[in-house]
Amino acid sequence: MSFDVNEIRKDFPILEQTVNGRPLVYFDNAATTQKPRRVIDKIVEVYTQYNANVHRGVHTLSNRATTAMEESRKTVQAFINAESEREIIFTRGATESINLVANSLGQKYLSADSEVIVSEMEHHSNIVPWQLLENQGKTKVVKWAFDDRGELNLAELEELITDQTKLLAICYVSNTLGTINPIEQIIAIAHSHNVPVLVDASQAIQHFPIDVQQLDCDFLVFSGHKIYGPTGVGVLYGKEQWLNQMPPYQGGGEMIETVSFGGTTFNQLPYKFEAGTPNYVDIIGLGEALRYVNSIGLENIAAYENELLKYATDKIQTISELRQIGTAERRASVLSFVADCAHPFDIGSILDKLGIAVRTGTHCTEPIMQHFGIPGTVRASFAFYNKIEEIDVFYEGLKRAIKMFK
Ligand code: PMP
Repeated sequence: MSFDVNEIRKDFPILEQTVNGRPLVYFDNAATTQKPRRVIDKIVEVYTQYNANVHRGVHTLSNRATTAMEESRKTVQAFINAESEREIIFTRGATESINLVANSLGQKYLSADSEVIVSEMEHHSNIVPWQLLENQGKTKVVKWAFDDRGELNLAELEELITDQTKLLAICYVSNTLGTINPIEQIIAIAHSHNVPVLVDASQAIQHFPIDVQQLDCDFLVFSGHKIYGPTGVGVLYGKEQWLNQMPPYQGGGEMIETVSFGGTTFNQLPYKFEAGTPNYVDIIGLGEALRYVNSIGLENIAAYENELLKYATDKIQTISELRQIGTAERRASVLSFVADCAHPFDIGSILDKLGIAVRTGTHCTEPIMQHFGIPGTVRASFAFYNKIEEIDVFYEGLKRAIKMFK
């Protein structure tokens, strides 16, 4: 292990508590991650020292807030190795980032005979925005199915792409199956047919390094709250050549150059896509979260989390009543399973009594449930502040729950 998990845990005040009389075991990290003290302190710092609306101010506080917000943009740019800060748009989260792209492309580039390919393992937020366009007669949504292990077949992608394919929208890591898709190969195939690619990195960005220039993706989205940052802030990365051509998503302050009743001109990137007062406090908090992650190192995080996932997977497989959902060769952080003798909700409730937080249900991926013919799964998802001992507690809790329901 390249770092001391007990030291790391001291950075996360929330982990110190007991729940239902037991030490909290937080295994719901794919839904949201906990915040290190320095992120919480940073938010308090802004509100107590330099809270003021950004960009338009001549006064000192406004300039401080603006500088800190733009520092965050540079931090995000470096974190994903984007070529320019103009390619980093701040949004409310991954969901808004995808809706922005769908809405903007829908205004100008898509029509009734266009096709957008999305995989069967997408989160609803990477399906429904495209279906909304379909309902408006602006595109057709084409499903790329996965196999029973939870892997996508690259040869099938070649078959799905037609002259009408205008975009491939795909997750890097599935939030339910844990599958790490071979995203570089997928992008290369799409590009060989001149199809741009939107990567949903919501479940990847916090687990291993991502270099958008190396991937050559056209768009990439993620939410701040899944990478130890605040809620209410997310990122859309887009290649400048795309963002420059795309029409604005929302209208309002910040995104304009001049406004008159004779007509309005729009601001330059990235502000063209940031209408209204941005969530500058949480944007500043996100920058702090990324600096924190950098201080530990994503390579170290990936190595440690892989150990956790392997240990947990091996343990679960010894419980014969459980069936793992998502057995792809390359997985990250997520372990989903079902039991014939109990509904996922019942297992989750028993675990909660033991202080163990897991998620149960469809995880906003109903098509995955339909694929397997199941109502939902129990999902444990790990972060680098989790411990091997916690997996032991989880394993004992599961055995107890199974015994009760059998
Ligand atoms: N995509 C994936 C793969 C996700 O896991 C999530 C969150 N569960 C989202 C998109 C949406 O993120 P948010 O709700 O933060 O916008």
